[in-house]
Amino acid sequence: MIDKAEGLVLRTVVYGESNKIITLLTREYGKLAVMARGAKKPGSRFNAASQPFIRAVYVYPRSRGLGQLKSADVITGYSNIRQDVFLMAYAMYVLELADKALDERVPQPALYDLFVDGLEAMDEGLDPDVVSFIIELRLLRHLGIAPHLNGCTVCGSAEAPFAFSLSHGGLLCKRHRHEDEHAVYVTEAVAKMLYVFSVYDFSRIGKVEVKPETKRLLRQIMDAYMERYSGLRLRSKRVLDQLLNLGDD
Ligand SMILES: [Zn+2]
Repeated sequence: MIDKAEGLVLRTVVYGESNKIITLLTREYGKLAVMARGAKKPGSRFNAASQPFIRAVYVYPRSRGLGQLKSADVITGYSNIRQDVFLMAYAMYVLELADKALDERVPQPALYDLFVDGLEAMDEGLDPDVVSFIIELRLLRHLGIAPHLNGCTVCGSAEAPFAFSLSHGGLLCKRHRHEDEHAVYVTEAVAKMLYVFSVYDFSRIGKVEVKPETKRLLRQIMDAYMERYSGLRLRSKRVLDQLLNLGDD
């Protein structure tokens, strides 16, 4: 049996002199690895299709182990992301999230579309922080650990102002914010943004402008939340943070 799957390259490792093992997130079969023989050789027909964050159609024999790639047709290489070191760092982070958070060989087309749409949006100029917030929030929901952003976690009140509480896993209203002394105050706009990012598709977000100080607060909240609830520790996130800190100096 031969499988044909649309996939995103999550990462690659060199194997032997000239081969590469490519980890793919495929739409049809979930996360899996294939061996691309000779992919490291100059002029290899697998050269383009075995680079990180390439989206292509891959053909390989069905097997429990490592199938050998038969053919690959590149759909897109996200050329704008590739030309920008910051965007590259964001894209690497997003792909490492997919790699670490998803199980092997469990088809999840909706999540595949989320990552593809996110990279597409980033390539077309949507703020990479917004793309990351959306992907993080969706992934958290998929993992069953999403923050509660639709009103107060205690009483359900939808009345602003809110504070965000890590220990309660979401928003607290004015009446209940004292339940967590570490809860951080968020403006109505920030609370709404978090909610919108957690439920809207990229196509519905459109071009959104987020002020730098708002982004910093959202980043702090999301980083702290991801750290506490996801258990994911990503090398690419440290690289991205270092790069962003260099830019701030
Ligand atoms: Zn309340």
